[in-house]
Amino acid sequence: MPRRCILPACLLLAGWAAASCGQDHGAVPADRESIELRAAGTPPTVEAAVVAEAVDGGMLLELDDGRYLLAHPGDVISRRPLPEAATAETPRQLGERVLAELPPGFELLLTRHYVVCYETSRDYAKWCAALFERLHEVFLNFWSRAGIELTPPPRPLVVVIFSDKAAYEAHASRDLGAAADRVVGYYNLMSNRVTTFDLTETDGLTGTGAGSAGTANQIMASPAAAGLVATLVHEAAHQMAFNSGLHRRLAPVPLWVSEGIAIYFETPDLAASGGWRGIGPPNRPRLDHFLAHHRHGDLVAIISDDDRFRAVESPLDAYAGAWALTRYLVEAKKTKFIDYLRRQSLKQPLADDSSTARLREFEAAFGASAEAVEQEVVKAAARLQTSLRGR
Ligand SMILES: [Zn+2]
Repeated sequence: MPRRCILPACLLLAGWAAASCGQDHGAVPADRESIELRAAGTPPTVEAAVVAEAVDGGMLLELDDGRYLLAHPGDVISRRPLPEAATAETPRQLGERVLAELPPGFELLLTRHYVVCYETSRDYAKWCAALFERLHEVFLNFWSRAGIELTPPPRPLVVVIFSDKAAYEAHASRDLGAAADRVVGYYNLMSNRVTTFDLTETDGLTGTGAGSAGTANQIMASPAAAGLVATLVHEAAHQMAFNSGLHRRLAPVPLWVSEGIAIYFETPDLAASGGWRGIGPPNRPRLDHFLAHHRHGDLVAIISDDDRFRAVESPLDAYAGAWALTRYLVEAKKTKFIDYLRRQSLKQPLADDSSTARLREFEAAFGASAEAVEQEVVKAAARLQTSLRGR
């Protein structure tokens, strides 16, 4: 099924950053401030940490619940330091605040690491939450075994599940604009939330009393099951990457890296309980797409800049290329890839990288030209496809 993920806030912010944020001021400070604002659509006063500050007075703020807020130059009326640390919100308080922003009819499911706001049946939400929890554990274990110690997310991760595509699209259009009808789930870098809907359209077909086993069977029997699993795992992987220190939100991490990792994790396994066994199975749709559509220079292009991901006509080629490149680097150049990821994790919000700097950084990290790596990726993908034939 056609599916793409976009990080809309990143695109919106890029213009502002390029236009007025000339420099980045380092890591998130521990100190919080009380900041009085005059911008429409924001509370008059917020308590937040300043993540980045531009020379003209524009600021990127992190609220206590992890949401980012952008204050344009001229929005800030006053600032004063807060003497005390934030009092942590309980997951229920966080969830109830998110519910208040949603249309009527949503309920709350609290799991170990997630606050799920759902409009579906509770059994459907529980099935999704079980997948998120499994991804949460597998994600941290995978990178730990690979040599990167990530920090478990400091607060519960918020997921919003609509029951109905039309209601989802109406809500998502605030973030995605006209793309809302083409994007079936997304992670928003500003709100830090994953939003999606019941892709299988099976929820409630058996009425009440189906139970969790009945709901699971119903979901897995749907033709949309593979797309559902891939979407949920993909978006949850983005959310984990940006909340565990693998990348920082709004930092200039190449999209091939963030998308390649999310796609590397997403591969469904419908024979497994819950539709996903973990990391490892080759992503056949991405592999086949890559080999069918790859043209010389495609990977050098996505290594250099993110334009191909934003192109209306060819984003699927870029996503398939990101998967093939990531898989090759994980399998064949793991130590260098991990070192490269460590460097990406240090990049600061609203910093900027030129395409020349990106290309140079990639070639230095892997000790080869991007063209040479691209040739190796194509050969590895072709070998993988051959090995999978007949299975
Ligand atoms: Zn994505």
